[in-house]
Amino acid sequence: MLMNNVIAKFNKICHYCGAELKGRSDKKFCDDYCRNNYYYKINTQRTSYIKRINSVLQHNRKILHSLCSCGRVLVPKQEMDSLGFDYEYFTGLYKTKKGVDYFVVYDYAFSVVNEKIVSIVKYLNKV
Ligand SMILES: [Zn+2]
Repeated sequence: MLMNNVIAKFNKICHYCGAELKGRSDKKFCDDYCRNNYYYKINTQRTSYIKRINSVLQHNRKILHSLCSCGRVLVPKQEMDSLGFDYEYFTGLYKTKKGVDYFVVYDYAFSVVNEKIVSIVKYLNKV
């Protein structure tokens, strides 16, 4: 169990197990066991969150790559949906000279033209 840091600090309890702390006033944990488990759990949660997002981005990129073989294409949105494309995950934004917003996913970009059509283009990163 990870304690809320503010509550733990205010009440002088261990940030990991919640036990009352004795000794130095700046002490955050009972011992090395609690300290190690606290940071291990935080790092594990952070890593797993990042892995999930990376996985969604790579899945999106794979879909865009499979649908856009010639550099620019209009695709039925339903097809993107059925492949499990997640429109909320992208790596950047790009606005065309005409003011159309494209969502970049690595080396591709997409724009939802309307509720039925999505435009996909091969995007050359300036990175
Ligand atoms: Zn503890």
